[in-house]
Amino acid sequence: MDNLKAPGKPAKAVVLYSGGLDSSIALELVREWGVKTYPLHISHQLLAAQQLPSVPDLKTIDVTEELAQIVQEPEHGYGKNLNPCIDCRILMLKKAKEYMSEVKADFVVTGEVLEQRQMSQRLDTLMLIEKKAGLAGMVVRPLSGALLPATVPETQGLIKRQDMLMIRGRSRRLSLEIAKKKKVVEFLPPSGGCLLTDPGFSRRLADVLRFGKKIGASDIDLLKIGRHFRISPDAKLIVGRNEDENMKIDELADETRVFFYVPDTGSPNALLLGDRKYLSTAAAITARYSDKKNEPQVEVYYRHKGKSARTIVAPVDDEELKKWRI
Ligand code: SF4
Repeated sequence: MDNLKAPGKPAKAVVLYSGGLDSSIALELVREWGVKTYPLHISHQLLAAQQLPSVPDLKTIDVTEELAQIVQEPEHGYGKNLNPCIDCRILMLKKAKEYMSEVKADFVVTGEVLEQRQMSQRLDTLMLIEKKAGLAGMVVRPLSGALLPATVPETQGLIKRQDMLMIRGRSRRLSLEIAKKKKVVEFLPPSGGCLLTDPGFSRRLADVLRFGKKIGASDIDLLKIGRHFRISPDAKLIVGRNEDENMKIDELADETRVFFYVPDTGSPNALLLGDRKYLSTAAAITARYSDKKNEPQVEVYYRHKGKSARTIVAPVDDEELKKWRI
């Protein structure tokens, strides 16, 4: 194609690939332009676990720890919930920039669509994000490129402006039409964002941040599951809601946590994090969620550092429970 760097030397681009409709189209378009692509998937534990379509040469980078740091104090604030989308996008572009130097690519491509997301895809925020990532003018957005300022690769003649599309806004209609035309058939269903956009998850996360705890990747596993109860500033209980969560709680019951269950009944598993002086309260909440919740006294077993013991408690009543529920 006539937009190549030099004969035999195609332009090279790192393409941020989420597996969704728009980044799948962006990848296909840039390939059609004759650009050599380096697809890059930025993964973290706050994304829904989904099998990505198979993409040749896809590189995946996990940024869970970095995102966990960002979420504690994002420079550009939060969206509706605790989603620091602007800082998160800056992080993604920084990773793309690193990969770009590694593979000696000429620019970065994203599937972003102008004004598709209010917080991170307005013209001013798109420009801010690429500048903060050290990629001003180096990010090509093929789906909306004809509506955006000219990029460096365009001015260098590596790609052509007339190849860019003019998609804008939240509707997926145009993207779906293009996907059909380009035979892009494998992509993930639309999602409203990661777990940080979920009000329940954000509430649980806000509770951890309020009590001054630093968040790491292992805390995220716990925030994803169960009912959460703040018993005191230094004690929290997590109660499983189904079999999967009960199994997960069992797996996460390490030396620092106390594991609870009610024997011989449909019982949730529960995990006390923090001060052990709240063992009885934790046992009473566990009993409340067991099939024996209407009995006056319930035997609850607990396990800590490999040793098991039991206690007998009255299930906590619902009014009392309210004051602890997160
Ligand atoms: S929704 Fe989550 S993953 Fe997506 S940009 Fe926002 S913080 Fe990042």
